[in-house]
Amino acid sequence: MTTGNCLCGKVQYEITGEISDIVHCHCITCRKAHGSAFSSVAAVNDSDFKLTGGDSLKYFESSEGKKRYFCTNCGTHVYAKRDATAHIILRLGSVNDDPKAKEKKHIWVSQKASWYSINSNLPESMEFE
Ligand SMILES: [Zn+2]
Ligand SMILES: [Zn+2]
Repeated sequence: MTTGNCLCGKVQYEITGEISDIVHCHCITCRKAHGSAFSSVAAVNDSDFKLTGGDSLKYFESSEGKKRYFCTNCGTHVYAKRDATAHIILRLGSVNDDPKAKEKKHIWVSQKASWYSINSNLPESMEFE
């Protein structure tokens, strides 16, 4: 089992199943939501993701049908969810343990911060795919 939480600990979760390959997203909304150069995310099936503390969890709908869930106390972005999907998009910075997932690629490189250089051997996509 993998556990994770926000910075203050009010939002906590457990993951019982697999975490998909990791994608580094450079889109402008991820950059703003995380206040960082990019966001490292992976998919987890809804049935494998259980909130064990979520009183202070709220979401911001950053684009139609995409909700970004964050802790209202400390501001950590914990996961995102698209309507009509059966998985959440976990923000890996909130994971406590080794997620045992491998890096797959960089996406939305067309929106990458000008001040950040990607130095990796991973594939790079200009947009989502
Ligand atoms: Zn918090
Ligand atoms: Zn993004």
